[in-house]
Amino acid sequence: MRDLLALTERPEVISFAGGLPAPELFDVDGIRAAFDAVLASPGVLQYSTSEGDPRLREEVARRYSIDGLPTAASDLIITTGSQQGLGLLATTLLDPGDTILVEEPCYLAALQTFALAGAHVVGVPANGDDLDLEALDRLASTHGPKFFYTVPTFQNPTGRTHGLEARRRIAEIARSRGFRIIEDEPYRQLRYSGDPLPSLAELAPEHVVSLGSFSKVIAPGLRIGWIRTTADIRSTVTIAKQAADLHTSTIDQAAAAHYLVSGRSEPALDRIRDAYAARRDAMLEALPTVLPEGSTWTRPDGGMFVWVRLPEGSDATTALRRALSRDVAFVPGTSFSSGTPDPRTLRLSFTTYSPARIREGLSRLGATWGADG
Ligand code: PMP
Repeated sequence: MRDLLALTERPEVISFAGGLPAPELFDVDGIRAAFDAVLASPGVLQYSTSEGDPRLREEVARRYSIDGLPTAASDLIITTGSQQGLGLLATTLLDPGDTILVEEPCYLAALQTFALAGAHVVGVPANGDDLDLEALDRLASTHGPKFFYTVPTFQNPTGRTHGLEARRRIAEIARSRGFRIIEDEPYRQLRYSGDPLPSLAELAPEHVVSLGSFSKVIAPGLRIGWIRTTADIRSTVTIAKQAADLHTSTIDQAAAAHYLVSGRSEPALDRIRDAYAARRDAMLEALPTVLPEGSTWTRPDGGMFVWVRLPEGSDATTALRRALSRDVAFVPGTSFSSGTPDPRTLRLSFTTYSPARIREGLSRLGATWGADG
């Protein structure tokens, strides 16, 4: 699969395989101004605390609180991307052989992190387009998991969002079965339609640790994320952070805080949302005309991904080989599986091309099926 995906990077390929934000939408001027401003103080080049820049934590806490989840700066630990947050939580919460539950399919790098920690990873299957809540309850009862890892909003890879009822039920199951939830929310603010939903942390505050990130809303190269911890693990997670890298870059945190406070982040995020909404629409409009009869796909209200299920008997890896011969690419869904992959599934990302280029790429994809009948 690695070799196949390497072929998607040829310049002539229109690749829906990546999971990258669109670089032309980075607010380079705003971010440059923030770095210039904070460099007025040499302290930004000094070591700093493991928990993170107080001003940045204040600002992130303020945004959570406005969003309906009361949060203090002391609840937050700044991490080097939310990927480090996943690693720190695995280190803090898991012993080799512990069982955890994940969504099937699941964000690939989270699976890798949990595998590295020696976890026994059990996938909770979907029921149609939604999480199978009965299965979650049953698997929690059978395995007594340390935690359930979920991306509840615009999930990577499916684009799926757990609705309000599902969120309430997940919170209830966590309470009754006594496990933690790790709620990974890098896409929450990339909403293009529909109403915002309460986070799981709002519904079961004592059970939920949330991860956040600026990667999809400012820029991933900043490598700034955070853990919103519960009080019982705050000091252990802080010690794990200190052991991992002392602290996240002082200057990057200071610049991010300055950028947020400067008021430039909101208009920049509006531009990102507007562009991605148009790109999502272009993809969703084209899909019915290019996918083979009998395919189904998600219609996400936000995020970066659409998840396709090809008709009975199809194989997305074989389809990728054919697609590459026509210079178009996607990721087969088997890459995101914790257990029993569905060979008919694939992930399409809609963020990095203009609507016209998306239509061109999808029309190449349509020709792929046509060629094989
Ligand atoms: N969680 C999910 C669900 C993601 O999709 C990603 C990035 N693709 C991450 C975490 C890691 O993000 P970061 O850049 O903040 O480390």
